Amino acid sequence: MKREDHQEAQRIVAMRAVRKACELCQSVRDTLVSAEALAKKDKSPVTVADFGAQAIIIDELTRAYPEVLVVGEEDASALCNPTNAAIKDRVVEQVRRVDSSLDEPRILQAIDRGAHDGGSRGRFWTLDPIDGTKGFLRGEQYAIALALIEEGQVTLGVLGCPNLPWVEGGRGPTTGEGQACGRGCLFVASRDRGAFLYPLQGGGGTQVRVTEVTDPARASFCESVESGHSSHGDAARIAALLGVTAPPFRIDSQCKYAAVARGDASIYLRLPTSEDYREKIWDHAAGWMVVKEAGGEVSDVRGRPLDFAAGRTLSRNQGVVATNGRLHDQVIAVVRETLRI
Ligand code: AMP
Ligand code: MG
Repeated sequence: MKREDHQEAQRIVAMRAVRKACELCQSVRDTLVSAEALAKKDKSPVTVADFGAQAIIIDELTRAYPEVLVVGEEDASALCNPTNAAIKDRVVEQVRRVDSSLDEPRILQAIDRGAHDGGSRGRFWTLDPIDGTKGFLRGEQYAIALALIEEGQVTLGVLGCPNLPWVEGGRGPTTGEGQACGRGCLFVASRDRGAFLYPLQGGGGTQVRVTEVTDPARASFCESVESGHSSHGDAARIAALLGVTAPPFRIDSQCKYAAVARGDASIYLRLPTSEDYREKIWDHAAGWMVVKEAGGEVSDVRGRPLDFAAGRTLSRNQGVVATNGRLHDQVIAVVRETLRI
């Protein structure tokens, strides 16, 4: 097979896998998330959807590529503990709603294929089956994130965002450029081929581009809802120094990368809340590719490129800053000054 044909085939497999996983997550959300579970902060729906989405995606990848390697967030050991038998049964039931050809051993086997160590050699995928679990429970933003890494470089990123408003022509409602006409976005980007947005339900894609804003006063920025994942205080100081006037746009998950890629925001700040936390590669690889191919820039808080070749974490980086590219140097200078790094 020619290289381009192989890349196209990988892209199709990845899109199909993420779409199926999105279907599973929405089904879990509709059938398992009760008001009671929310009030009690019952994490079991997240657990069921996390394991289920990982099973669906890895099984799809394995069908196409039997030797596939995956750096996934979950493994099946907890599910095999007899005290979690009820959760395991729900995972199997939910997966079989989406794909009735899968049985329990195959589901557990697929989940367990996510244990690869990553690194700088060869080809592997990285998967966050549900990124933004709190957003998932609240019925807000979350993402299913799948990326391909070859010789330490991200070459394909697919982000399924089941609750993100879909707007004719690309850009989101926060820019005031269009009215949302449904929910569910699939962002797909491959190296040197641009970033595209497809309706999650199916249909043609539109190329997405970052904003052309060069004056930070006209930029809006996004950050985590969770202040434990990114310092809101430092972000507010940075925004003030840059002259950003718009309030922060807070959403969970890699939907923040999607927001920058399609121009809903021009800056995404992820500012360390502790010295020793290391970002996970599955929390960033797909979003990184989507923003880069939409014309933006992504680095850590010191302005260094994200190094996806360092194992399961971004151990050589701290924090993340994504921008429309034009603003990057200015933003990094203010981030470094504020964090004194
Ligand atoms: P977000 O939706 O942007 O808040 O990010 C969700 C992700 O944050 C999860 O997938 C976790 O892997 C990750 N996370 C957990 N703890 C931290 C932390 N202390 N700093 C940064 N990210 C974290
Ligand atoms: Mg995550």
